[in-house]
Amino acid sequence: MDRPCPCGSGESYDACCEPLLAHREQAGTPEQLMRSRYTAYVRGDADHLFRTWHPRTRPDDVRPDPTTRRPVHLRPGSGVRSSGRVRGCQVRNT
Ligand SMILES: [Zn+2]
Repeated sequence: MDRPCPCGSGESYDACCEPLLAHREQAGTPEQLMRSRYTAYVRGDADHLFRTWHPRTRPDDVRPDPTTRRPVHLRPGSGVRSSGRVRGCQVRNT
């Protein structure tokens, strides 16, 4: 197995980006990371692309957060009354 790596490093795929895409190694340098992401893109490895994507720049709709999409339920009649009479409590000394 001596395929050239898609990232264009000149190394074989197995010696270059394959360990990163197979989760066996982490990128040691930003260049390695970008090369592995390019290779993942070429190979259609969406999992690697997503894993190496910073959460702040990642699109929200890739993994929707169910807690923010739950509608707020307002039951009729459960609101605060705006009319009526407040009955006071009587405190008695015993
Ligand atoms: Zn590579």
